[in-house]
Amino acid sequence: MEKGRHLVVLNMSTESFSKNRGRKSSDIWSSSHVSDENMRRLDRLANLGTLSAGVAHEIKNSLTAIKTFIELLIQKGEDKELAGVVAKELSRIDAIVSQMLKFASPRPPAFATVQIHDVLDHSLRLLQHHISGKMISVKHDYRAKPATARADEAQLQQVFMNLLLNALEAMGANGTLIVSTDIAENGGKKDIVIKIRDTGIGIPNENLPRLFEPFFTTKKNGTGLGLAISQGIIQDHHGKIEAHSEVYKGSTFTIWLPAA
Ligand code: ADP
Ligand code: MG
Repeated sequence: MEKGRHLVVLNMSTESFSKNRGRKSSDIWSSSHVSDENMRRLDRLANLGTLSAGVAHEIKNSLTAIKTFIELLIQKGEDKELAGVVAKELSRIDAIVSQMLKFASPRPPAFATVQIHDVLDHSLRLLQHHISGKMISVKHDYRAKPATARADEAQLQQVFMNLLLNALEAMGANGTLIVSTDIAENGGKKDIVIKIRDTGIGIPNENLPRLFEPFFTTKKNGTGLGLAISQGIIQDHHGKIEAHSEVYKGSTFTIWLPAA
């Protein structure tokens, strides 16, 4: 009987796993008609998030089944003390997995009106320590008017921090970081254009097509996730992100976001 219930629990979780964010893994891998390489990269990344959330779901469902079983044991009074210890440990694991699920699931943006220049300034302030430590000079050229977008402020900040950190990591002492914004027409609508430019080591041509790939890194302690996650966030905001670079001269990352 216990075995039967356990099976039902697992089936349920498999179903909810494939329904996650409305995309089945088969949808992702059968999308051969999508020729855009970037789309496939984004799908792979979305799949990664879905996968970890799916695994956490499986573990959580097993935990629930075991917990019910232990509670039954306690009720029956068989080795209450031992069962109590097991139950307590299970609750702890349950809490950890719940927290993991909360963070591992790709969260759709919570859109609100956001002042882009404020988010850029705030991100720069958070990195002030890095900037002054390396004697980097920062130049702003904020031209976008209006500079408001419908966006998830926390997610945009995550993108700006990723790009600014990469820029700082690419430069030695006395580099220059240039943060600029402007407005561009896009089919009768307006885009806010955000550029983050550095005078760092640059990116070799052969690496440019791989930059936004999850786990692509040239750094000893890099994760290779910053740009992949950033691209996912910008796509969720109906925008786009591109990189241009010249080796030994520096790199520019440009983001287009629909203006509010
Ligand atoms: P990580 O920073 O952990 O390596 P990212 O996804 O942020 O991962 O970046 C991936 C790779 O792209 C980096 O390892 C680096 O090779 C390259 N890159 C990104 N931004 C820059 C930059 N501003 N200048 C030079 N290389 C860069
Ligand atoms: Mg990075």
